[in-house]
Amino acid sequence: MSAAGSASPHLLEVHGLSVHFALKRSLADRMGRRSGRVARAVDGVDLFVDAGELLALVGESGSGKTTLALAALRLVPVTSGTVLLGGRDVTRESRGSLRSLRQKAQLVHQDPYASLDPRLRVRESVAEGLRIHKLTSSAEEERSRVHAALAKVGLTPAETFAERYPHQLSGGQRQRVAIAGSLVLGPSLLVADEPVSMLDVSIRAGILELLDTLRREERLGILMITHDLATAAHVADRVAVMYHGMLVELGPARSVVDAPQHPYTQMLIAAVPRVQREEARTRTLPGEPPDASRVPPGCRFHPRCPFAEERCRVEVPALLPAAAGSQGKTVVACHLRTAAPAVAAETADGSA
Ligand code: SF4
Repeated sequence: MSAAGSASPHLLEVHGLSVHFALKRSLADRMGRRSGRVARAVDGVDLFVDAGELLALVGESGSGKTTLALAALRLVPVTSGTVLLGGRDVTRESRGSLRSLRQKAQLVHQDPYASLDPRLRVRESVAEGLRIHKLTSSAEEERSRVHAALAKVGLTPAETFAERYPHQLSGGQRQRVAIAGSLVLGPSLLVADEPVSMLDVSIRAGILELLDTLRREERLGILMITHDLATAAHVADRVAVMYHGMLVELGPARSVVDAPQHPYTQMLIAAVPRVQREEARTRTLPGEPPDASRVPPGCRFHPRCPFAEERCRVEVPALLPAAAGSQGKTVVACHLRTAAPAVAAETADGSA
């Protein structure tokens, strides 16, 4: 593990990140004099994002993906673990230092209709961050940076869009304004929380293409949270699948989508056509969605897994290289899907 403040080869590096919330004691807890339960929203996650890379974090509601992303920005308290952004440990920064770090890591919200103040012109919304962080010394400099950000997100002529109000824009244009409001601060990391889920299907591709362009041309690292594996496959370099606060599969996007290893990933992929047709998201997945306050023993997926066997109920599977057929660098947390240990493989070959 990298020490706090040490050089990191990655733009964002998360080590053993846990976020637990204490729940209010129920009446039954109080009557039984039991302490309140704890929701383990994120439990010991390791991952990284490189500059110029788009990592999609996928999972249904309750999987912990949004909490993980918010913890990476220190927008929720971290219980344990480290988050290195540009080599600096975000979990140990004072409030004052966090301010400058937040310029470097920006959150793009899911809902472009709620994230823009209807009373502000586009130029005022985009300039808000510049004013908060006192990043410009004149009105002319502010105007120039706002126009440059609008041009980067494809809102041209920037002078025209800068004078509009949110109600004069389409949903896709509003999301572009929200992204411009992040870009104007010169971040190195964007955390995009379901950036297209509130938009019409017809304009989703345009926003995803914009993220792809920013990743390539601006060398931005992007952590994109999505419930939709089809969206992830479209733009991501790698896909990380979360279930019940833990990563269960992580690998190159095409490998994860074309040859999913974990039974939960397979379930998500099987649900994609129904999700698209009914727009019903995770309601179409079989079994109960995860509840962070009730963590099953062993493999957390075992109550829903069609392949569960006895040891799945007691042994927590580690995230290990997947068995043959995963086309390379995929790691998976499943007793049945990980590669046999090297020693065992050699013995089977008779070469040990
Ligand atoms: Fe299913 Fe067992 Fe694999 Fe968990 S470890 S996903 S229960 S087969």
